[in-house]
Amino acid sequence: MPGDPPPRVPPEALRLGMLFGGGAVVGLWAVQANASADADVLLATAAHLAGLLAGYGILVLLLLMARVPAVEHGVGADRLARWHARGGRFVVGGVAAHALLAWGAYLAHTGRGPLGGAADLLGYPALAAATAGTVLLLAAGAVSARAVRARVSHETWRGVHLLTYAGAAAAFFHQPAGPDLAGIPVLAWLWSLLHAQVAVLLLWYRAAVPLRAALRHRIRVVDVRSESPDTVSVVMRGRALAALQAEPGQFFRWRFLTRRLWRTALPFSLSAPPVGDTLRITVKVVGGHTRRVKRLRPGVRVAAAGPFGAMTARVRTRRKVLLIAGGAGITPLRALFETLPGGPGDLTLLYRARTSDQLLLHAELEQIAAGRQCRLHYLLGSSRGPDDPLTAANLRRLVPDIAEHDVYLCGSPGMADAASRALRRAGVPPDRVHAEVFAF
Ligand SMILES: Cc1cc2nc3c(=O)[nH]c(=O)nc-3n(C[C@H](O)[C@H](O)[C@H](O)COP(=O)(O)OP(=O)(O)OC[C@H]3O[C@@H](n4cnc5c(N)ncnc54)[C@H](O)[C@@H]3O)c2cc1C
Repeated sequence: MPGDPPPRVPPEALRLGMLFGGGAVVGLWAVQANASADADVLLATAAHLAGLLAGYGILVLLLLMARVPAVEHGVGADRLARWHARGGRFVVGGVAAHALLAWGAYLAHTGRGPLGGAADLLGYPALAAATAGTVLLLAAGAVSARAVRARVSHETWRGVHLLTYAGAAAAFFHQPAGPDLAGIPVLAWLWSLLHAQVAVLLLWYRAAVPLRAALRHRIRVVDVRSESPDTVSVVMRGRALAALQAEPGQFFRWRFLTRRLWRTALPFSLSAPPVGDTLRITVKVVGGHTRRVKRLRPGVRVAAAGPFGAMTARVRTRRKVLLIAGGAGITPLRALFETLPGGPGDLTLLYRARTSDQLLLHAELEQIAAGRQCRLHYLLGSSRGPDDPLTAANLRRLVPDIAEHDVYLCGSPGMADAASRALRRAGVPPDRVHAEVFAF
């Protein structure tokens, strides 16, 4: 691989940085908070705190999704998505609290009725824009709620999310004029500068870099091989792919440039280590997009954003490694199974599927296991009842020194939760479990 390894921001450093920023925001509010017992002042003071925290939270949410490589490679895309979702709930609460408290403060101060007060406030252009931004942010929160998310298509969810950029921009314009920032010009500038910096990161890493990569690497599909009735491997070739520094365990967001697929970037892991200018993914058909991927033909052009993901050889801390895959989660682990350094007996792969005909790439796995003298076990059966193979007792039976292992885990959220619980009970500390969950 050419060049130095890409830099990585460890999750703890990012978490600490976010907390520090939150603390600074509360400090900024505290030094200016008005100590008065009057209802209007109290409401306004609380509104300022909620507003500052929500504004800071929006900035953090955007940064988490900016696809900055050092953050993606260090923290991992699924952890970033989890933090983003958790933070999103906090921001939606903060934005709603800020709007209600500020409205209440205005009513208490002026004695106006609720509707008259709302009309007064909406007469200020910056507040009207902030209200429009609030509506967009609340809409994004609503489509992300679990019950709604399960019912709307990915495109609808994504479309509403894209509107939040406009929402965040609209909400921004009233912030530097707020009392906590307006009194101190240097802070108002700093706040604006932070927003500008996040906007530049978003534009750069989500638009410019993928576009530049598409033009430079000119990837095309060269082969589509059937692996099972509902699974295909797609082999792609491009120019100078070594410059991407993709590693086994990582994934790309693939935009296949066909009439029906070009609008959507689909995440798929590399199912084999990159070799020269060739990349391979293995895709299980679960819905409309993957059905179209199965029908791809050689020659189709591909725009690939990435690589992403932290589940690589770099996070390993132990000589012995246990890989646990569920369903299509075998893809990145298949690439790691082949490439993680280790002698005979150092690597064990447990592959969870309901039935043997759902096992993907099993001929390759058996070949790798035989060639490297690694252990390979299929965990078949239902996850309910006494035959559930993913229990602590079964893990200990198959891998007696399991507590001595690093664990790489990949699968659906349900499978990953079950495996994490069983691993904890079997004595594996959580910080030794390196997981990539196929969730959005
Ligand atoms: C990091 C990561 C790596 C993955 N690697 C593989 C792999 O190697 N092989 C494999 O078979 N599957 C993989 N998946 C899962 C795969 O991305 C989904 O199965 C696929 O996108 C579903 O598309 P669909 O429209 O056919 O299915 P649908 O039934 O329409 O969608 C199933 C789920 O996928 C979500 N989804 C649909 N389109 C997108 C999109 N563009 N971006 C994100 N989510 C979307 C939907 O919201 C829904 O939750 C991976 C997922 C992630 C997050």
